[in-house]
Amino acid sequence: MDRPLICLTLTGKTLLENLTLVNKYRSVIDVAELRADFLDDDERLLIRKFPLMAGLPCILTLRRVVDGGQFREGEAARTVLFARALSFAGEENAKTFDYVDFEEDFRVPSLQDVALAFGTKIIRSVHCMDGPVSNITERLRSLRTTSYEIPKIAFMPHSLSDVTKLFAEAEQMNDNNHILIAMGPLGAPSRILSAKLKNYLTFTSAPELASNVGNLAHFDPITLNETYHFKTIDRDTDVFGITGWPLNATSSPVLHNTAYRAHNMNAVYVPLRSEKIGDVFPLARQIGVKGFSVTIPHKESVLGYLDSVDEHVAEIGACNTVVEKDGSWYGYNTDWSGFKRSLLEFTGFKNLRGKRVAIIGAGGAAHAIAYAVKKLHGNACVFNRTLGKARALAEKFGFKYAPLGPDSVHLLKRYSDVIIQTTSKGMNASLPADESNDPIYFYEFSGKEKVFDIVYVPETTPVMARASQAGCKVCNGYEMLKYQGWEQFALFTGVEYNDYNE
Ligand code: NAP
Repeated sequence: MDRPLICLTLTGKTLLENLTLVNKYRSVIDVAELRADFLDDDERLLIRKFPLMAGLPCILTLRRVVDGGQFREGEAARTVLFARALSFAGEENAKTFDYVDFEEDFRVPSLQDVALAFGTKIIRSVHCMDGPVSNITERLRSLRTTSYEIPKIAFMPHSLSDVTKLFAEAEQMNDNNHILIAMGPLGAPSRILSAKLKNYLTFTSAPELASNVGNLAHFDPITLNETYHFKTIDRDTDVFGITGWPLNATSSPVLHNTAYRAHNMNAVYVPLRSEKIGDVFPLARQIGVKGFSVTIPHKESVLGYLDSVDEHVAEIGACNTVVEKDGSWYGYNTDWSGFKRSLLEFTGFKNLRGKRVAIIGAGGAAHAIAYAVKKLHGNACVFNRTLGKARALAEKFGFKYAPLGPDSVHLLKRYSDVIIQTTSKGMNASLPADESNDPIYFYEFSGKEKVFDIVYVPETTPVMARASQAGCKVCNGYEMLKYQGWEQFALFTGVEYNDYNE
């Protein structure tokens, strides 16, 4: 079975700039696409030199604005440029573009003849930049009018359902002589799981020029190879993933994919971004997802889609891990156990018996944390900006509650053996600590408190810095995140996670 190739899309202004990128990524790419529409005018006159300079198979593309490109000079000028690039190519293979991209409506028989004469394959493309394409299978068939054409359909999905339809349509295809792409962040599975779409190739961009094609959400070739192990993915690869919205940054793919590789498992973990949790399950069924992580904002809403949940999910009211078994979906929560393990390591305690604990915040994460504190026999008070949420959470576990502000300072002092910060207030904040980034700015540390902030970016949050200065022992949320991921891995695969130095 042929595996999809990795193509590096080149959007530099000069041939030399593009060549530098080809050389930098040569070891991880198979093909280079020269996007001549991005080149300076003078450079466009020299494009026929590029295949020999690059020394690997090249695609020539001159994309119009309507198809998401930069070429504005009209069809006559485009035809002339294509003719220059193709018809003057020598008969030596190294001097010839291996592929040329002609859009569906760009049919110039003389250029097609030239391409045929020099053995240049035509990628016959359709781009829909503002929505999905329907009848994909039929459309692909009608695009390929000769055997030396590779039909390509790329569209911008509106939701994950559009991506699901793409995978469903690809099932009808018998060969890998086509390219199907869902663009943008929603389309990430179509780029990584190219082998499941039976694609001829997948497109990537160098991080140096990623902003030129930002809305397409190309992966860079190193990430595709090293994080997702693209070259080992085939039609039998087991798929796992993570869903959430907007899911801009997540370290989970590195954590899970590193372990699959270490255990020689034919498996991959991919982002399954979705605004609606309900759209994730049809895609998961379509591509055979065996398990997925759930993050903000779907941890509660996912419960309505599960066939069964474990006792911890039932008590916490949130699920961050979904596993498929014999066609049913099972929900687990590893946030609470990941937190518990990290907290015990940090404090050196066996449990929280006899300890007074402050839980700052009453959001989604605080629910798993309050559950862990209860399981560890801690006596806690929940402090939150919105008092109703503090009350609801505290009453669930028999804890005290109070508003988050200077009026609660005495109560906070009484519950200060361990202070667990769970609000998002210090996230991405810079020092020094002040009222805007430290949720307990009104509290003066004695130096005896153990302070656990579940936020891990920055590594030292403002409240941690202030507590540490007063002599307190502090810990961020990185180990909690790591341990919850390790447990997910075990639930997904049945294998214990080791520390693989991701
Ligand atoms: P969430 O459900 O949106 O809850 C946010 C909490 O922060 C609420 O208690 C909210 O108070 C409070 N808050 C937000 N802005 C505030 C402000 N300006 N002043 C005071 N309180 C404020 O979010 P979540 O899922 O609980 O996540 C919270 C944080 O924990 C995030 O930074 C997340 O990245 C981190 N987290 C870490 C891990 C880990 O593994 N380490 C796991 C999960 C979450 P109100 O109720 O008044 O709105």
